[in-house]
Amino acid sequence: MRSLYGHEGTKCAKVTCPTCSKERWYPLWQLRQFLKRENFSGHCRPCGVAALRAGHLRYVRSKGYGQHMTSNGYVNLTVAGIDLNDLPMFRAMSTPAAARVAEHRWVMAKHLGRPLLSVECIDHMDGDKTNNAIDNLRIYVRGKNQPGSGHGYGTYYHEWQMALAKIRELESAL
Ligand SMILES: [Zn+2]
Repeated sequence: MRSLYGHEGTKCAKVTCPTCSKERWYPLWQLRQFLKRENFSGHCRPCGVAALRAGHLRYVRSKGYGQHMTSNGYVNLTVAGIDLNDLPMFRAMSTPAAARVAEHRWVMAKHLGRPLLSVECIDHMDGDKTNNAIDNLRIYVRGKNQPGSGHGYGTYYHEWQMALAKIRELESAL
């Protein structure tokens, strides 16, 4: 902080932002008000907002608000649950009102590197809705004669195939 007199004889001091090292001048009376607050950091407004937002994100993630469990057993992600660099993709896939994306859809979208279409469904191969590892997920287009496509969601095609293989194996053993 360096002080000098402003245009109208007001004594001013220079404050340097600790993050972007941008400098700006404040009248001393205003700085005195700032310094009364014990959390005064000297950040400029954009850096202060960014720090506040980062702190808020840290807080909600530590509380587990980034993930949300739906009543039918799926895991949904909120904005707090994703990397902010992926925000455009999140906005493209989320429901407008709730701003949430199902985690299995999000994992597959990240794997493909593009947002999913609404006709593209993601199936949990082992039937466990909370197991959202990428090798447990399968993408298919509903009603397009693709393996597992049929009426409704969650057709468990993989489970069915595994059961058939097991039956064949047992039959050959007879
Ligand atoms: Zn700054």
